[in-house]
Amino acid sequence: MITIIQQRDKCIGCNYCVEFAPQRWVMSKKDGKSVLIGAKEKNKFWSVKVHEDEKDINRKAAAACPVKIITVA
Ligand code: SF4
Repeated sequence: MITIIQQRDKCIGCNYCVEFAPQRWVMSKKDGKSVLIGAKEKNKFWSVKVHEDEKDINRKAAAACPVKIITVA
């Protein structure tokens, strides 16, 4: 398993994470920020544990994120 983490309040809504990993990210129509699907929030950090097979695409999403708020560990 890997863990994906997003510091959601700093998201600028650029949509890159959704483009790289559409099965794990979606844009919110409410506030224009991306939502990490399945994640739970703790102290403004949203995290979810997923299967290894999502690692590469989410690493690409993390690398593309202009404000560097996505971590894949
Ligand atoms: S790539 Fe980063 S800034 Fe852009 S929508 Fe995703 S989390 Fe937000």
